[in-house]
Amino acid sequence: MAKRGMLFVISGPAGAGKSEIVKTLLRKHPDVHLSVSCTTRAPREGEINGVHYHFVTEERFDELIREDAFYEWAHVHQNRYGTLKEVVRKQLNEGNDLILEIDVQGCQQVLKLNPDAVGIFVCPPSRDNLEKRLRNRGTETEESIRVRLNNVAGEVATAYTYDYVIIHQDWSDVPNALEIAADEVYAIISAKRCELENRRAFLDQLSAQLRA
Ligand code: 5GP
Repeated sequence: MAKRGMLFVISGPAGAGKSEIVKTLLRKHPDVHLSVSCTTRAPREGEINGVHYHFVTEERFDELIREDAFYEWAHVHQNRYGTLKEVVRKQLNEGNDLILEIDVQGCQQVLKLNPDAVGIFVCPPSRDNLEKRLRNRGTETEESIRVRLNNVAGEVATAYTYDYVIIHQDWSDVPNALEIAADEVYAIISAKRCELENRRAFLDQLSAQLRA
């Protein structure tokens, strides 16, 4: 039987830089795939439907919930976001290693549902750094920055349930912080691929060849 892909769930507070880390990783490593989520939020400038998200109406999102189409979904900052079961099923069945870049509530659902999923938590190096990143984005209002910072303590408390923690350093201290964090995520993926269980079929085949 062909080998199934592995599921990696990357989460962490908004502003910790998880989507930039994932983008950097995917640019360097096309062997890793990213799930495109559904969201009810409006597209930001430059975002393309079907590429960055499937942008859907509240009604369509309700319909997808009723159809049991979501692997997980959550309310995040006044909008709803969800991962489609079909995307996860298809990618893993095709043997592709798949990343879900989702919020901490969704991540908790996935880790509970699928004990084989690998949880990776992305942390900012400090509160000040997180505040600076949220401000620099330029897409958040003062109110939304305040709400997001208030949520972070609770989000960091969930980090203890993950398998790995990435500290995304401040680029003013570590200029290649993004590259380092992306390389660390890829190192985790590589290590999982090299685990004995994932090499057993190969070893059996090699042993058979050597005995022939
Ligand atoms: P943004 O609106 O900035 O693209 O994303 C806001 C938050 O929603 C981020 O923390 C992102 O990881 C999370 N998110 C994106 N897609 C999903 C999803 O499918 N499920 C869940 N639970 N969260 C998601």
